[in-house]
Amino acid sequence: DDLTDPQEADGDLDVEASLRPRRRAEFVGQPRVREQLDLVLRGARQRGTPPDHILLAGPPGLGKTSLSMIVAAELGAAIRLTSGPALERAGDLAAILSNLVEGDVLFIDEIHRISRPAEEMLYLAMEDFRVDIMVGKGPGATSIPLEIAPFTLVGATTRAGRLTSPLRDRFGFTAHLEFYSAADLTSVITRSATILGLDLRPDGASEIARRSRGTPRIANRLLRRVRDFADVRADGAITRQVARDALAVYDVDEVGLDRLDRDVLRALCSSFGGGPVGLTTLAVAVGEEATTVEEVCEPFLVRVGMLARTRQGRVATPAAWEHLGLRAPDWSRS
Ligand code: ATP
Repeated sequence: DDLTDPQEADGDLDVEASLRPRRRAEFVGQPRVREQLDLVLRGARQRGTPPDHILLAGPPGLGKTSLSMIVAAELGAAIRLTSGPALERAGDLAAILSNLVEGDVLFIDEIHRISRPAEEMLYLAMEDFRVDIMVGKGPGATSIPLEIAPFTLVGATTRAGRLTSPLRDRFGFTAHLEFYSAADLTSVITRSATILGLDLRPDGASEIARRSRGTPRIANRLLRRVRDFADVRADGAITRQVARDALAVYDVDEVGLDRLDRDVLRALCSSFGGGPVGLTTLAVAVGEEATTVEEVCEPFLVRVGMLARTRQGRVATPAAWEHLGLRAPDWSRS
């Protein structure tokens, strides 16, 4: 069921690491972001200064971590990786900052989840390459300023809107990653197949790409499941037919909807006449948590134009009725 969840980290971490693009030339798609980043990095190199801090915004699985590693590689710098939830106390961040070497890239994933005290420490670090360490407690507490090496912060967020404005303002550049086209995902899958030594046919690649929700992480995962099917039930070659048969086993349909997505649409259309219906009611109808429906199913259903979120509740669009093979009620006749 987690096959189409873009947030789900891959069980097979070694495989995921082997498929990660390491160099700019290996990073497929996102032409606008690549051009913008290229200018930021070249400008800095020409001036001989570290580049501005960079924020990477966009849905999970689109390559934010990969891009941060590529930025470090382009700068010839080392990268330290951490995440917002890991920086619960300001001291956690201070320890990382004070160990940085000049020019390092510090990557903070899910930066919108950083704790308040750590965030405040980050302001000064980003602006002046300095932190104030608090020593002692109560009236006797003093702060000791500590210089840190000039570094470049690369923050990643799936919720740019959740960042406070003081934090957002301290980034010199924000890159907005977009969902990938089927053609770009075909390239991602083809590259991965070469690395994994698979016999992937062009029509098999485009079939998997079409069902991957615009997301490279999902594309790579579907490729590996199709590979299992090709090895076990066919002769190893990944053709269009093999991809179709394999993904039918995993309940991923021709546009990338999984079972839960279809259950949500079916409940919406069959039980609630197409809506509007509240999120909680809809979630109960499909036996899922409201947050799963809201964060995993809905963004994709909205993006493919099958579900609309309105003030009154969730509504099925004509495309949803059509996809389910159902006839939308003709309200004009009633
Ligand atoms: P999250 O924020 O959920 O961790 P992310 O946006 O950081 O996700 P990555 O971990 O960088 O995403 O990418 C997930 C996987 O997708 C990578 O291991 C890589 O195999 C593949 N991938 C992502 N973007 C690209 C790309 N542009 N070209 C080729 N492969 C990519």
